[in-house]
Amino acid sequence: MVTSKMCLEKWGDPTNRKNEGKYMTLWDVPTHLEIGVIPKRLYCNKLMVEPLTKAFTNLIQRGFVKELKTFDGCFNVRKKRGLSSFSLHAWGIAIDVNAAWNGLGQKSTLSKGFVKCFTDAGFNWGGNWTSRVDPMHFELSTIS
Ligand SMILES: [Zn+2]
Repeated sequence: MVTSKMCLEKWGDPTNRKNEGKYMTLWDVPTHLEIGVIPKRLYCNKLMVEPLTKAFTNLIQRGFVKELKTFDGCFNVRKKRGLSSFSLHAWGIAIDVNAAWNGLGQKSTLSKGFVKCFTDAGFNWGGNWTSRVDPMHFELSTIS
């Protein structure tokens, strides 16, 4: 599991906007992967491009695209809710979807097949966490 400490060591303080250029990119989502609710240009960590390409491809090929109702953010410099450490969103390596139905601590409405599209592509799912489930949340399983 990727921790905020690992990200701090790799990319530095996320509140320092000068660091952003090292790891963030404005990704033009390829037209064959265009999914209605996903922005055509996604500001995310460079390490996200390949796994997201895989995840979107999986969603399309396996027929789970319709389950994707809302895109609820990727890059957002903030602390984890109720905690002092930074969220992995602070470095753009996490994505939230269908947030209205999958809030922190809530039971997930996402199907196993939908989740697998992401976990097969290199993401950990917040719905699998034991302490506080966050089923809207997918984050990179590695940054090495
Ligand atoms: Zn999240």
